[in-house]
Amino acid sequence: MFTKVKTSEEIIAMRQSGKILAHVLNQLSIEVTDGMSTKDLAEIAKNELKSTGGQPTFLGYFGFPDVLCVSINDEVVHGIPRANKFIKNGDLVSLDFGVTFEAMITDAATTVIVGKTENKQHLKLVNDTQKALLAGISVVTDGVKVGDISSAIEEVLSRGKYGIVWDLVGHGVGHRLHEDPNIPNYGRPNNGPQLRQGMTIAIEPMATLGDFKVEVDEDDWTMRTKDGSFAAHFEHTVLITERGAEILTQL
Ligand code: MG
Repeated sequence: MFTKVKTSEEIIAMRQSGKILAHVLNQLSIEVTDGMSTKDLAEIAKNELKSTGGQPTFLGYFGFPDVLCVSINDEVVHGIPRANKFIKNGDLVSLDFGVTFEAMITDAATTVIVGKTENKQHLKLVNDTQKALLAGISVVTDGVKVGDISSAIEEVLSRGKYGIVWDLVGHGVGHRLHEDPNIPNYGRPNNGPQLRQGMTIAIEPMATLGDFKVEVDEDDWTMRTKDGSFAAHFEHTVLITERGAEILTQL
């Protein structure tokens, strides 16, 4: 399904879904600490969600077993929370979460460095991946083409000489977690499907300190870099408006 122009009621539900999501991701970013298991993070997400009226979109999606994706260091996305997997100071922890509110879905992710790191490359990777997300968002407006967004992201990541993960892309979102069109993190301006105000999309650059190639673990979910290089991931769900993007998944 190509992402639809949302009704005003649907947009109101998505705004609320996005606020809930932003609150949960923010809480996780504050609470993530050395010695915690990745399952502990999923439990925090579940508890934070309880009183909000939101539902965890990822739980059961194509059989995904938990509410949150937690991907550490060379894991790019889709890490399954585990009670025996512990977080250490200096880890790059990517947190990806989805919220369904009144049947409308938003999707967002952030990468945090736990504690303090002396590693300037890691800091730069995280900062630049977030910059790439903002660059992609900055070109969004009524009539934007997917390639305009893709190339804005690619420009930032290429400048930093990062690996741009080809196999994983942004997407339409709203009625379903993944709607068409795909929104790659590389592309040519003035190319690809045209988007209209009222549509909602998830933009999500993923970058590595090495190669772009990724592989799936034996758990059939966790995607990690083939060369073991560290990765970062940032994502927002945005509403396309006449004059630009409204970021739905921020506080
Ligand atoms: Mg997504």
